[in-house]
Amino acid sequence: MPKLLLIILDGVPYRNWRRLFGNLEGWVQSGEARVWKMRSVLPSTSASCYASIHTGVPPQVHHIWDNADIRRLDLPDVFSEATKAGLKTGAVTHSYWSEFFNRAPFDVVRDIEYDEPEGPITHGRFHTMHGYGHDNQMTPADYDLFGTLTRLAEVKGIDYGILHTCTLDSMGHRFGHDCTEMDTACFKLDGVLAPFIHRWRQAGYEVIVTADHGQSDRGHHGGRGEDQQDVALYYFGAGEGPAPDVVIDELQLAPAILTRLGVKVPATMTAGSFLT
Ligand SMILES: [Zn+2]
Repeated sequence: MPKLLLIILDGVPYRNWRRLFGNLEGWVQSGEARVWKMRSVLPSTSASCYASIHTGVPPQVHHIWDNADIRRLDLPDVFSEATKAGLKTGAVTHSYWSEFFNRAPFDVVRDIEYDEPEGPITHGRFHTMHGYGHDNQMTPADYDLFGTLTRLAEVKGIDYGILHTCTLDSMGHRFGHDCTEMDTACFKLDGVLAPFIHRWRQAGYEVIVTADHGQSDRGHHGGRGEDQQDVALYYFGAGEGPAPDVVIDELQLAPAILTRLGVKVPATMTAGSFLT
């Protein structure tokens, strides 16, 4: 069965993906990747989207209404089902993902990194963005995060891994989108990510690159509309997908990942995989 890495670049709207990520678009043009539009759940709020991306159920079911009151979810998710099937999982993400899918509250000394063979997250490497604010971007360097995920792939042999970074979401909240700062930030991230995608593909991983939600031109999200909800989803792999003009529902991502990993999709994930 394929191994798969899911890369979530937080808060990147569809229009930024398609005009500013030249390496990803180059792979679409060369036929090595496919791209679709994906629409986030409502609210298009980060924590609500994270919970939906990995459980495949909407906020109206998992009850994560905003970025507050983070807790352990009591629903099957990608980590729990993959671990049950005997696969090794990895996470290089914001600490919310550890709280939702392993344990809460997040204890920075206990939980900043762990290796727990029983799962559900076999190898976790987290960051908190503690001290984050409009004028104080506390995201780690994306290069470091990509390096950490690559170590989990090459040293720990994970079958499934997720990487999530808030760099571009933070840039959007600070600068908005019609500005040279955002042009440069997307250009840099595309250039940093590309060699890692090449390396992961060489190592036999399928790769999905997408965002949790978009942002308005003012750098807002949480509500409805194509600017706040619509993102691109790039897929590198051998699975069959829908026609290019089909808009993927964010709830289809969890069942798609499990389907590609050869893991049984739980009954709670009703949206249906977009990949076979
Ligand atoms: Zn977000």
